[in-house]
Amino acid sequence: MKDYKYIYGPIPSRRLGRSLGIAPIPVKTCNYSCVYCQLGRTDKMTLTRQMFYPVQDILAELKDAIQGNIEYDVVSVVGNGEPTLYSGLGTLIQETRKYVAKPIAVITNGALLYDSIVRSELKGADIVMPSLDAYDEISFHQINRGHHGLSFERVLSGIIEFSHEYTADLWLEIMIIAGVNDSDESLEKLRDLTKLIRFNRLYINTPIRPPAEPWVTASTPERLSRAACILGGTSIEHFSPTPYQSGIDDDYRAVISLIGRHAMREQEIISFLRIRGNLTVDLILNQLKEDNDVEKIHYQDTIIFRTK
Ligand code: SF4
Repeated sequence: MKDYKYIYGPIPSRRLGRSLGIAPIPVKTCNYSCVYCQLGRTDKMTLTRQMFYPVQDILAELKDAIQGNIEYDVVSVVGNGEPTLYSGLGTLIQETRKYVAKPIAVITNGALLYDSIVRSELKGADIVMPSLDAYDEISFHQINRGHHGLSFERVLSGIIEFSHEYTADLWLEIMIIAGVNDSDESLEKLRDLTKLIRFNRLYINTPIRPPAEPWVTASTPERLSRAACILGGTSIEHFSPTPYQSGIDDDYRAVISLIGRHAMREQEIISFLRIRGNLTVDLILNQLKEDNDVEKIHYQDTIIFRTK
């Protein structure tokens, strides 16, 4: 696949399989600045929905991409920020449906679900995956650090309202952070809130890539199991991701394209190259380590690569 501006992947998703991504917003444009965000701190904090790019430009790339010989299980609208800030979202979903027979998923922080227009636009998707990491105003500011125009109560009531209006698959995701929201008390408060929400699946996640704030750490497997027990959900750690793929022929460019969208662990890059039959994996790793445009982050006993 070519190197597109709005379309990327397919990348392996633990929940979705091979996910062909659509990124309809500029990088780090969000209404949250989550302490665990792998993009770093949000530098374009906004609550205003905008037509960042013409829908037709995104669709032109999508049509071109799916004409190639790529295999994917789902199209996901996600991007490096919050996709519901894109005011063309409803049209984008409707138009995508005309060209793609696979399910369309939207991964959202759920902050704008209080907006009836956003709720209506999302009804065109097959899967909506909102997050709920906090259980009160204090934990909301501690974890998600939302735009000053947002309150926890407003966000929560939007998620609840949407969940009862929306009739397709709603997969709730909760990010569990060590020492922040993984105590029994915090988990019980979260569980009480989830009872107000209609969802089909509940996934428990923990930061496995470098977070925006260095003090953020992943919960232990024991706390994740405890979270699954109290919340009644599935820990995302129990899923094996499918391998990364790229239609770009040149191996180095393929890796650069992938890490431009999605930070990758050293082991993931090695697996990706081996599956492609590359015989110079060490050379490529060294090239990456010396590339000034590539950020190398030592995290949890491995090196994570992403483009600057
Ligand atoms: S909602 Fe997503 S993109 Fe926005 S700050 Fe949080 S993790 Fe990052």
